Amino acid sequence: MNPVSLRNLPYPYRAALSISSDIDCTDTIEKHHAIQTFMRETIGIDFSNTFFPYHEGDHFCLFSSRKADKDAIVAQIRSGQIDALHSFGEKSNFTRADAVRALDELERYGCRVRIWIDHADASSNLCKFRSCGRGDDRDRPEYHSDLLKRYGIRFIWTERLTNIVGQGVPLRLESLLCIYDPRHAKDSFLQMTKTILKVALSRLGSTKYAHFRTNTVVGPVTLKDGQRFFEFIRFNNHFKGAAVGDTFEDLHYLLAEPVLYRLKQVGGCSIVYTHLGKKFNPTSPGGEKTLQALRRLRLESDNGQIWVPPTGAMLEHCLATRHLTWRGWVNGGQCKINIQSIEDPLAGPTAQEELVLKGITFYTPPGLPAEVTLHGRIPLRIRHNPPDHTGKESVTIV
Ligand SMILES: [Zn+2]
Repeated sequence: MNPVSLRNLPYPYRAALSISSDIDCTDTIEKHHAIQTFMRETIGIDFSNTFFPYHEGDHFCLFSSRKADKDAIVAQIRSGQIDALHSFGEKSNFTRADAVRALDELERYGCRVRIWIDHADASSNLCKFRSCGRGDDRDRPEYHSDLLKRYGIRFIWTERLTNIVGQGVPLRLESLLCIYDPRHAKDSFLQMTKTILKVALSRLGSTKYAHFRTNTVVGPVTLKDGQRFFEFIRFNNHFKGAAVGDTFEDLHYLLAEPVLYRLKQVGGCSIVYTHLGKKFNPTSPGGEKTLQALRRLRLESDNGQIWVPPTGAMLEHCLATRHLTWRGWVNGGQCKINIQSIEDPLAGPTAQEELVLKGITFYTPPGLPAEVTLHGRIPLRIRHNPPDHTGKESVTIV
């Protein structure tokens, strides 16, 4: 048995959770700043938001009539406080020329965004199972997915949701039974039954529900035009369904203590689907519950239990651990680990290995010094960790 093994998550975390909020209903820059301040300072988690390039109601967006909107979006993309396009936004008669304009503008300001998230029934969507998304149909004037690829989008979300707590781990029967909540017996029983049916359909070959069979958080997908991206799955277990429980006031249910307990128990990752701008009011009765739930989540992070990174960071880490090629051995009383590469299934061996490798953790034999190299020659900086909840020592690339 190999004395060295790869840990799924950075030390010391047992599970990971990222909050992914669509920008709908964040109409003004003041509201956007209030949400960012609330998440990043009042709660104190490393949160990244989404943005609209266009909004014909002149809501907060890149091309609004207010220069301050663009200045804020550009600055926050550069600082990592915004990391996702929420489609190209709300624009009737959207065409490829609009996509060119938006991506050119982002490039002009040196703004790199790697995540795309479909929005409602926007015609620029990439959705596969509804008719509204035309962004990957070469025969439509809205076609733009080749431009997204060239611009640097790596991850896309095309409306795939799950209500199972913890992705990236094998699906267990208990995870399905946990959907039932006696406080909301009728509604949650219905949700549980629907999910069991989706799992059954996925096992019979349904592509629409394939993510219920694999329970992965991210994996490669090919769009209609042949472009390949990584598709990710978001989580929302609201007892009335994700479409109802997607507001700030509902978020506490998605982060309730049994959910966080279950997430740690299965050792999984979840990307929570919400709209912080919908019913954003931390002092309302519902908002107060969400405030408390977010504070509990922050505590889980501070205690080294749940990693709470921005969505892009979690997705990159999941891919890096899954596609890492490495070898570990013990020689002369020392543990040696050599990383060959990250075999990115879309891009091939990644050129930015040293950046993506940060946080990667290996379990090592007790009491032995360790060294980690890249390509057998580049020494990597590591931190030695005491035993975690499994009782095993480890080293983390820093
Ligand atoms: Zn939306």
